[in-house]
Amino acid sequence: MKPDHAGQIRDAEELLSAGIQRPGLAKGLYLGHFVPDFVMPFPELSPDEQTRLDTVLPELRMFLDTRLNPAEIDRQADIPREVIDGLARLGLLGMAAPEEFGGKGFSQLAYCQVMEEVGGRCASTSIFINAHHSIGLRALVLFGTPEQKRRWLAPLVRGEKLAAFALTEPEAGSDAGNVQTRASLSEDGTHYILNGEKRYITNAAIADVLTVMARTPDNKITAFLVTPDMPGFVLTEPRMSKLGIRGTATSRLAVRDMPVPKENVLGETGRGLKVALTVLDYGRATFGACCTGAAKTCLKLAVDHANTRRQFGRTLGEFELIKKKLARMAADTYAMEAMTTVTAALIDSGTEDCMIETAMLKVMTSEALWRIVNDTFQIFGGAAYFTDRPLERMLRDARINQIGEGANEVLASFIALAGLRGPGLQLQEMWEAMHHPWSDLGKVWRIGMERIGAAVHAPAVPVRNSQLHSRANHLGGLIRRFSTEVDRVLIHYREEILDRQYTQQRIAGAAVGLYASLCVLSRWDAEILKPSHGAGDDLSAADLYLRRSFRRVRRWLSELHENDDDLVTATANAALRT
Ligand SMILES: Cc1cc2nc3c(=O)[nH]c(=O)nc-3n(C[C@H](O)[C@H](O)[C@H](O)COP(=O)(O)OP(=O)(O)OC[C@H]3O[C@@H](n4cnc5c(N)ncnc54)[C@H](O)[C@@H]3O)c2cc1C
Repeated sequence: MKPDHAGQIRDAEELLSAGIQRPGLAKGLYLGHFVPDFVMPFPELSPDEQTRLDTVLPELRMFLDTRLNPAEIDRQADIPREVIDGLARLGLLGMAAPEEFGGKGFSQLAYCQVMEEVGGRCASTSIFINAHHSIGLRALVLFGTPEQKRRWLAPLVRGEKLAAFALTEPEAGSDAGNVQTRASLSEDGTHYILNGEKRYITNAAIADVLTVMARTPDNKITAFLVTPDMPGFVLTEPRMSKLGIRGTATSRLAVRDMPVPKENVLGETGRGLKVALTVLDYGRATFGACCTGAAKTCLKLAVDHANTRRQFGRTLGEFELIKKKLARMAADTYAMEAMTTVTAALIDSGTEDCMIETAMLKVMTSEALWRIVNDTFQIFGGAAYFTDRPLERMLRDARINQIGEGANEVLASFIALAGLRGPGLQLQEMWEAMHHPWSDLGKVWRIGMERIGAAVHAPAVPVRNSQLHSRANHLGGLIRRFSTEVDRVLIHYREEILDRQYTQQRIAGAAVGLYASLCVLSRWDAEILKPSHGAGDDLSAADLYLRRSFRRVRRWLSELHENDDDLVTATANAALRT
């Protein structure tokens, strides 16, 4: 069966807030614009929040150093209750929840800095917190009624209750809209009766409140607040045995004729996908922070080892092929942190229009971390293979990031198609206006001039340091070239682009590269201006990232014209027939 791309785009449109007039950061790139809000100047915390964060971080580090044993968590496949209680005492289970419910009321930017610390030590623990907080509790904060919040939020913040988020099912993985769990209305209309199965649900075996997605009689997906004591709630496999993040309790569960009061509908009936995709923005931003933390840990391990391990009479760090890995790791880590910061600030701005950016962050940081862990592993050689070092665990743990909260292939398609929509609509409007006798020539002229303008003028990328002007101009030129290629792709393929994943991947790859480069340039610009910045301070990681990123963007765009797509298809089809 042909995939329902039109349906997927419709779903995405429902989730990308309707009626947005001014394209934001990512969407602007597709139109050849650069919208500097939230990127430039580089975002930072308010002095007040920075002060509060400065008191939380040392306490957290002390706790993690003394009470968290990631190797033991991995071995036992469990996070001890004392660790969960300790995290709750430090406020980590309700960091971003409002203060009236006992939370710290932290911004996403501050929360990400906290989660970077946890992600740098133990992926099981960071994913446990992410499932509880960023997608579990957050759904309640954003969509709960006052009564639901009064009932659930405070115990969740205190860690007396834990949360989970249950969307995935046997037939609804990447195709999240294909939820089969049914919610039919009871005869007296007081409650829904849920039937279905969920799988791969983080925290389900330890959760006291689960946000469960089910299809209501309107054939749309609705979010329900479910507790495990409801009759018909069955954990069919409480802790699935797995490769990595083994400390998390990942479950399979079923709901069988389970009555759920109507008051437990979370958000509007039929708007469950909106709930799911909104909280996933927070989840993906937190993924970015956790991947950044893990990348920093790898870099430190790799540097220590490269400075101490000697072979052929030299330290490993003296060999060019090791330098090359370390340099790439440092450059990618710098970019991961910059992109997490900008994306978190974008979320804090209150815009609902940040799904493309959070998807870009998730793809970029999860792919970069996988390379970084792999490079660190290689630098350690045989020593990495043994369980007395953290690297084999980190390798196993890192693999989930490219799959969880949206497989990267699916997100790449989304990044491309959601971005292409704006210029696509403009071109369609122009096309229709030109082909009708009552055509509005003014409109044709206006859109035409806008498109020509984007093709001719590179947008300004306003850096404050003159030494960065040439990079900023280069980046502006790449944005212009990107938008020209976007128009070309749309004119060439029209609706067929929905099925052209090779092209989508190139468009998404270039867009992610541009977004990452803007974040890096902005961070670099801000760092030069810091009073503490000295002439000898080394920012070569930023420079290296930009050079490599510009080259990658050019390559993605060139491959739109010169590629092996036909041969790739033929080879894959031959393999699929065997
Ligand atoms: C450890 C773990 C924890 C999880 N925690 C949760 C949780 O708390 N709550 C929850 O609801 N879910 C959770 N998930 C589910 C997770 O979100 C899904 O695994 C993920 O969305 C992918 O779905 P799938 O596994 O069914 O893969 P599938 O949908 O079967 O996809 C398999 C692969 O096919 C490819 N693919 C799929 N569709 C396309 C496409 N359109 N184009 C190109 N390639 C495609 C991708 O490479 C993908 O990796 C968890 C999963 C794991 C492994």
